[in-house]
Amino acid sequence: MKVVMYHYVKPAANAPSALHWVTLEHFRHQLDSMSSTGNIIHPKELLNKDFEPRPNDFLLTFDDALSDHYHFVFPELTKRNVSALFFVNGLQYKQKRLLNVHRLHYLLHHHFSDQLLTAFSETIDFFKGDVQLAATFGNELYANMEERDSLVAAIKKLINFHVDPILQNEIAGDLFGRFAGNENEPMIVREWYLSEQQIAAMAASNMVFGAHGFSHYVLSNFSAAEQESDILKSVHFVAEATNQPVSFFCYPYGYASSFNDTTIACLKNAGIQFAFSVEHQEVDKLTLLNRPYGITRFDCTQF
Ligand SMILES: [Zn+2]
Repeated sequence: MKVVMYHYVKPAANAPSALHWVTLEHFRHQLDSMSSTGNIIHPKELLNKDFEPRPNDFLLTFDDALSDHYHFVFPELTKRNVSALFFVNGLQYKQKRLLNVHRLHYLLHHHFSDQLLTAFSETIDFFKGDVQLAATFGNELYANMEERDSLVAAIKKLINFHVDPILQNEIAGDLFGRFAGNENEPMIVREWYLSEQQIAAMAASNMVFGAHGFSHYVLSNFSAAEQESDILKSVHFVAEATNQPVSFFCYPYGYASSFNDTTIACLKNAGIQFAFSVEHQEVDKLTLLNRPYGITRFDCTQF
């Protein structure tokens, strides 16, 4: 079985200049080809202990609670009578602001300019070598970004992986405020994410939701107590929004270095049965039995 990871899905005219997107037209084509060469399985099949994934099975997953998933994905799935798994955080709803990872996406999509790149460069110089965190990250981060994007990769590494959550809020909030305007953020949040009503409507129409970490902060940087709190807050938010128990989790960023044994222990305590990472590897019965907290996924642009 191939588990496929999607983020943005938009009509070609609105396609974002961020990594991890497909056009709606391409998405429709992918769904048609998956249905004609194999089967799109229901996410809850994983919870059935007799389930035997086959090589031509597909499981579709969608990260970050993007409003695209309601406007463009949900109608296509419903039309074909198939289900998928959607991962939701929580902080964006409780604090009415973009997750820091999306503050960067927003700036790169709407405010890409020499001035923005200069601000990235100054920020990197200012904070370089400033923080010590528990996890260590190597060359795996943003490894597939092209050379011309190296400054973009560097600011993503700094903000997403190498600063603590407080400094991350400060840096991402400052850049966002300077280029997009803090006063615009509540309106952008409403357009960017699924509303709680949309989540409830999708959950009532055969779609399955999982948790994705409350703050989308990289879990391996957190202490055990912080991981537990971030995971539980996210699981509770999704359970409340969907009125259903939560069995699935997806690690923010998905690299093997972005979670650890403590993360897995917290997930088990929170009632999670399967957790998803990002690595281009097929999933078979043995994966489900032996590695339920390391289910690998293919990016939608690379399978
Ligand atoms: Zn994410």
